Amino acid sequence: MRAPRAAQTTLARPVTLSGRGVHGDRPSRVTLAPAAPRSGIVFSAGGAELRADWRGVDATQLRTRLSRGAASVSTVEHLLAALFGLGVDNALILVEGDEVPAMDGSAQAFVAAIDEAGIVDLPAPRALLQVVRPVQASLGAGWAELAPAASGLSLDVEIAFEGPIGRQRRAISLTPESFRSELSRARSFGFLRDAERLWRDGLALGASLENTVVLDGETVLNPQGLRFADECVRHKMLDVVGDLALAGAPLIGAFRSFRGGHALNMALLDAAMRAGALEWREASTATFAASEAPGQRPSP
Ligand SMILES: [Zn+2]
Repeated sequence: MRAPRAAQTTLARPVTLSGRGVHGDRPSRVTLAPAAPRSGIVFSAGGAELRADWRGVDATQLRTRLSRGAASVSTVEHLLAALFGLGVDNALILVEGDEVPAMDGSAQAFVAAIDEAGIVDLPAPRALLQVVRPVQASLGAGWAELAPAASGLSLDVEIAFEGPIGRQRRAISLTPESFRSELSRARSFGFLRDAERLWRDGLALGASLENTVVLDGETVLNPQGLRFADECVRHKMLDVVGDLALAGAPLIGAFRSFRGGHALNMALLDAAMRAGALEWREASTATFAASEAPGQRPSP
């Protein structure tokens, strides 16, 4: 495994993806373009620039939406997961439409687009957010926490549903390699019994077997079946990666959640910022701090 990059990164050249929004079912197109150091991930949509920042999130039901004034961009989480998972710090995302295209419901197409564009280093040290004290959030039956860790970002995610999904738990240490092989191909999932209610709310209007794993009672309706036996928890982890990208920089810490979702992930980031649980580091300093404090890793 390669050492984490110490320099900030961006894309080497622009790349465009087209498709339809899974919620609005309208055509949409995104162009991922290079950006300057310290600009972060910025969406340009409806004449406004929207920073990929948890403070700009205004809706979390089934997707994460950023808004600013009258402009909004919906379903940003799988694209953000791909950028964050592969270690792209700065990018300008030009959105034509009001939603990131669903593609196949996973981050696979975004990973392929980033690979096509290429990732280059920029002449600036990488800024990281280190978790310096444990912080928790809970919502309904779910909870999530961030705790200090010696280095890198680890994820431990458990879901609990009725029927064939049941309880699934998975833990990984997040690297570009593990993101690619374990999480990037896991698709969104939904239950047929929820479809009419979601449609009434104007959600999932573009959902189909092309972009969603659809469960009906005990049955997976997609003719090709699942990509992984535990594809659902892997997708929840993909969503976590996309939501944690809204912290604004790579995190050094240990994330855990039980029955989580976008709203809970945002509540956790909010709690972490309020509690002063995240401190800025430069990549070289963070590595030094980690080697100074090997006992910081909490017991599970
Ligand atoms: Zn998702």
